[in-house]
Amino acid sequence: MPGTTVDLLVIGGGVNGAGIARDAAGRGLSVCLAEKGDLAAATSSGSTKLFHGGLRYLEYGKIRLVRESLIEREVLLRAMPHISWPMRFVLPLHPEMRFEGGTPISRILGLTMPWLRGRRPGWVIRLGLFLYDHLGGRKILPGTKSLDLRKDAAGAPLRPVMVRGFEYSDCWVDDARLVVLNARDAAARGADIRVGTEVTEARREGDHWRVRLQGPEGEEVVTARALVNAAGPWVGKVIRNVVHTQSREGVTLVRGSHIIVPRLYDHDRAYFLQGSDGRIIFAIPYEETFTLIGTTDAVHDDPTEPPRCTEEERDYLIAFANRYFAREIRAEDVVWTYSGVRPLYDDGASSATAATRDYVLTLEAGGAPLLNVFGGKITTYRRLAEAALAKLGPYFPQAGGAWTAGVALPGGDFALSAKTALTEQLCEDYPFLTGGWARRLVRSYGTEARDVLGAATCADDLGQSFGATLTEAELRWMRDREYARSGEDALWRRSKLGLHMSADQRAAVAAWFAS
Ligand SMILES: Cc1cc2nc3c(=O)[nH]c(=O)nc-3n(C[C@H](O)[C@H](O)[C@H](O)COP(=O)(O)OP(=O)(O)OC[C@H]3O[C@@H](n4cnc5c(N)ncnc54)[C@H](O)[C@@H]3O)c2cc1C
Repeated sequence: MPGTTVDLLVIGGGVNGAGIARDAAGRGLSVCLAEKGDLAAATSSGSTKLFHGGLRYLEYGKIRLVRESLIEREVLLRAMPHISWPMRFVLPLHPEMRFEGGTPISRILGLTMPWLRGRRPGWVIRLGLFLYDHLGGRKILPGTKSLDLRKDAAGAPLRPVMVRGFEYSDCWVDDARLVVLNARDAAARGADIRVGTEVTEARREGDHWRVRLQGPEGEEVVTARALVNAAGPWVGKVIRNVVHTQSREGVTLVRGSHIIVPRLYDHDRAYFLQGSDGRIIFAIPYEETFTLIGTTDAVHDDPTEPPRCTEEERDYLIAFANRYFAREIRAEDVVWTYSGVRPLYDDGASSATAATRDYVLTLEAGGAPLLNVFGGKITTYRRLAEAALAKLGPYFPQAGGAWTAGVALPGGDFALSAKTALTEQLCEDYPFLTGGWARRLVRSYGTEARDVLGAATCADDLGQSFGATLTEAELRWMRDREYARSGEDALWRRSKLGLHMSADQRAAVAAWFAS
């Protein structure tokens, strides 16, 4: 499309770029989103996958961030009951757990109750959970309760030193599918979504940007009335090397790694584990037969180096979990690892440790506007998109108002309470499906699961079978509707079926895309 002109060009197809593109397209703006790799290829598929308020941010006094996230959990849950669901978190009280040094709350307690020596006593945690329950207007999610770990099933996999604990609510989300569904919905509202397309240069020309894209079809120049830099870890690089502005702003990169091991326990609750070093990690039921453990917090100096879980990080997570679980995890139990880098806002002045976990949006006006997006959480992506559109509002007086709260993502047009019925109905209409297969389809595609299956009356109607219930019909859906271009896109982002497949089966999927 030579000579294309759009209102908004969004750089980056992570959750923030895709969320902004969807919101803007729904307000009637013409939008082009360029993602240099795959949708959610970077941070947005490397998260812990929680819609959460962030219990530990209370210790930092981040009340506004926690409150906004807590309220948002249920808004998001309603809009995507297929890819997200409520989860209960068990927080065992362990005699060795300590506060993270230097947080406002640990300093106050250190001054007023020095005898605690950095310990997080049960009553402080209960108080925090009381706030967590009441800051964010819960309607769907149940509140906190105390647990006797000697009697409750949640105590069974733990070491017997833990006898008491609490259980509170947060939510799980499939982060990579969240991005894909936002991009699809943006496209359904008119946005032009380009994957494998890098923004290599953008120059202001009066009230327009001239933007150079390098995509699968070669180079193209697009004119945009406004530019959104949602490049995540590359946001600073885009400021310096692509748009060439003088801003000193950038991001501090903090790597977080996760390990996946065969399921450590049988129930569907997650664990919030506190360490003697003041950090916390989660152990979360994952993909039916696994447990996900993470995350670490390591400085990631070189942004050009893709984040990977180091042996040191793996061993740290194993040792951390082994202080809690009776069944020892060993390095050879780890079946997969993944890492992401948190792009934390750095204004070029404050120290890295002061870097906020909140999002920051900066608008560079003086001609065509440039909006830079720093930081943020999966949980706040929709609010961030609204805030971004509010900042750009004066440049687009014709644009509609905020609309995304309560509007379902593709396939999410059903009530959370109807999920089991939807799965049962799918099994009834497609009797060849197993229970696990139907559950996976509903958790991935919601009401669109029947569009994936179409008129099939037996498994053979779905074409080649690749193992782990993946068929050609589903791969075609991912390719034609969800922008997947490779085995990796399909097996590690549109789904996590790679975990359940042999190397040969994964190679067959890659070959299907290549053919
Ligand atoms: C370990 C870890 C755990 C986390 N856990 C949680 C959690 O449980 N809950 C929560 O709410 N949040 C969590 N977060 C935070 C959350 O994952 C991030 O805030 C969010 O994913 C950032 O999304 P983004 O769109 O800004 O960046 P990204 O997802 O990194 O997207 C940026 C995209 O821009 C593209 N790009 C860069 N340069 C260009 C260019 N020149 N042209 C075209 N494309 C370009 C990249 O390829 C990339 O895909 C976690 C983060 C980490 C690292």
